[in-house]
Amino acid sequence: SIPLGYFGGIGLASRNGILFKGSNFLDVMTTVNMVIMDKTGTLTKGVFNVQEVITDGIDKKELVSIAATIESNSTHPIAKAVVAYAGDALGGLKAKDVEEISGHGLKGTVDGKAVLAGNTKLLKKFNIAYPQEVDQLVDTVVVIAVNNRFAGYLTIADEIKEDAKQAIDRMHSLNIQTVMLSGDKQAVVDQMAKTLGIDKAFGNLLPEGKAQKVQEYKNTGSRIAFVGDGVNDAPVVALADAGIAMGGLGSDATIETADIVIQNDQPSKITAAIRIGKITKRIVW
Ligand code: ADP
Ligand code: MG
Repeated sequence: SIPLGYFGGIGLASRNGILFKGSNFLDVMTTVNMVIMDKTGTLTKGVFNVQEVITDGIDKKELVSIAATIESNSTHPIAKAVVAYAGDALGGLKAKDVEEISGHGLKGTVDGKAVLAGNTKLLKKFNIAYPQEVDQLVDTVVVIAVNNRFAGYLTIADEIKEDAKQAIDRMHSLNIQTVMLSGDKQAVVDQMAKTLGIDKAFGNLLPEGKAQKVQEYKNTGSRIAFVGDGVNDAPVVALADAGIAMGGLGSDATIETADIVIQNDQPSKITAAIRIGKITKRIVW
C-alpha cells in the first residue's frame, strides 16, 4: 500500500502547478544531483523576434520574402518569427519540395530558386561557404542560401524567463550541478550560461546528441533530472531518472513521456518539486 504522505505530496505538488505522474518520482527528485536543461522553451520563453537582416548580393525585401516563404512550411518557433516579421511583405511567392532537416533547418525551392534556411550547420552540409563571423555572433541566426550561394542572415532573439536565474541559484544552493543542452550556436549558449551561472553548456547538438550527453552523465553515476519542451526532447526526457516537461509550451509527446509536468513552464518549479519530495519523505518516514 502507498503511504498516506505520498498522496499528500502529490496533492501539494499539484496545488503548486507541478504534476507528478507517480508517487515514486517524489522520492526520485530527492536524490537528484544534476539538472540538465534544454535552452529554448525551457530556460527561454521560446518566442523569437527578428532583430536584424543582413544581406549579401540580394535585395533585403527579397531575402525576407524568400526566407518567410520557405519558413511558412515549418512550425518551429524560429520559423514563426520569420513569417511574422515578413508580414504582408510575403509577396505571394511559392515554396515547393520543402524538407525539414532536424536540427538544421529547411531545404526547398522558392519561385524555382534553390533555397536553404537554417543554421550554419545546414550550409556546411550542402558545402556552401559563408562569412566566418556568423559563427561568432552571440545571436541566434537564420542563415539563407539562394541558388547555392550565401545570401545573408536574420538575427533573432528570445528572452530568458524571469525566474531562470533564481532557479539556477536555488539548484546550486541544493548542491545540484547544472547543465544546459541546445541545438543553438555555441556562442549563444556560452553567453547565456554565463548570464545564468550554469555550470556546463553544450550547443550545436542534434536531438541524438542531447540523448548521448545525458547517457554519458548517467554513466558517471549522476542522478539526473532532465527538463525539456520540444518534440525532440521526448527521448531525452525518457532517459533521465526524472523526466520533466514544460506543460504550457511543451509538445504532446514530451508531456506524455514525462514523469513530472510543470504546468506554468516556470524553471523555479524544478527546485520546488525537489522541496516537495523532501517534505513528503519526512511525512512518510
Ligand atoms: P533547439 O530546441 O535546441 O533549438 P532544434 O532541434 O529544434 O533544437 O533546432 C536546432 C537548431 O536548428 C535551431 O537552433 C536552428 O538553428 C535550426 N533550425 C531548426 N529548424 C529551423 C527552421 N525551421 N528554421 C531555421 N532554423 C531552424
Ligand atoms: Mg526546445
